[in-house]
Amino acid sequence: MSNHISTFETLELENVARNFGGQAALRGLNLSIKRGEFIALLGPSGCGKSTALNCMAGLLPLTGGRILMDGKQIDQLPPEKRGFGMVFQNYALFPHLSVEKNIAFGLEMRNVPKAEVKKRVAEAIELVQLGPHAKKLPGQMSGGQQQRVAIARAVVLRPQLVLMDEPLSNLDAKLRLEMRTEIRRLHQSLGLTTLYVTHDQEEALSLADRLVVLRLGQVQQVGTPEELHERPANWHVADFMGYRNLMEGVVERVHGSAVTVSVLGTTMTGSTQHHVAAGDTVKVGLRAEDLEIIAPGHDSLGRSILEATVEVVEYQGREFAVEARAVDGTALHVRTPEHVQPGQKIYLAASPDRVLIFQSALEDAAPVQPELLGAAS
Ligand code: ATP
Repeated sequence: MSNHISTFETLELENVARNFGGQAALRGLNLSIKRGEFIALLGPSGCGKSTALNCMAGLLPLTGGRILMDGKQIDQLPPEKRGFGMVFQNYALFPHLSVEKNIAFGLEMRNVPKAEVKKRVAEAIELVQLGPHAKKLPGQMSGGQQQRVAIARAVVLRPQLVLMDEPLSNLDAKLRLEMRTEIRRLHQSLGLTTLYVTHDQEEALSLADRLVVLRLGQVQQVGTPEELHERPANWHVADFMGYRNLMEGVVERVHGSAVTVSVLGTTMTGSTQHHVAAGDTVKVGLRAEDLEIIAPGHDSLGRSILEATVEVVEYQGREFAVEARAVDGTALHVRTPEHVQPGQKIYLAASPDRVLIFQSALEDAAPVQPELLGAAS
């Protein structure tokens, strides 16, 4: 029967809320998912990512709002009626069943005919490249291989949506990278709609068509990886998008979207999407790769110069990741091809179009309207 699960065009979370006791884990979450999309839910620990996924799966009832599939309310349906697949960080494989049997289990539970089970299990094993391990028990395989079994077990049911909760977090760095590629490949070859929870910005950027950044149970911004990377809606999103330098500053002058700020004992000009006025305390966001080491004295482009002392230098392939200390004690992160040394004085400059100015205060409870924040239509 699960052979032919009809698939949806749009899945909508409408003002979804979930409280635990008096505490709100989700506060009016709005999100629209289109068939075939890979969406990553991203945010710090405790922001409500897993709660959102569990609400979607039907493992947690909502305390407010609705989930709609092509306009039909589904949040009252039990998990097994939703036709969703799940992959979690602890693979929860049956330890006494072989790889094949683990993958076949869900199909057998649904009374799929034996020949069909055999065919689909073989396909799934092929898909996650576990052919040589089909007869093994989970305990005889590596973490990455076990996670592949967990993925095969979910996709063999041909779910209309796959929910993944930090599926790679138990794996070592190399395996994580391999599995990341694997998940992307599977998504592309099967066209599975996927909702993927992670706190790892790099993982989210590399996998997802769209990212959803959560904070305190609310959507902060929805957009493509490029949109969030280039135009984060607030400093919280910027922080997640790899703006390693988020410095306190005070606005001196505003000319349209160009803002001059006093920061780290100098002035810098940047741009903002916010309403700021002279005298406001703001956050100045700069990515490590946008701080450039320049010769001492004078910048030929007339940019402000930040003086700092190198503290830590890490070799990272073709570049160095440098942590330096500004005169007032603020830590600065710089990526540079120059091989500087700890203790060395450096002079840094950034182009105004790379300097983003954000309001310091983050809105706490105001509902954020995704369409105002550049959500894909
Ligand atoms: P992490 O990345 O650490 O897994 P998360 O973003 O997935 O975090 P959730 O697990 O969704 O966050 O938790 C959101 C909030 O709800 C947290 O404040 C958490 O303490 C609370 N919470 C989650 N589950 C329960 C529960 N069963 N009982 C009480 N509070 C809970």
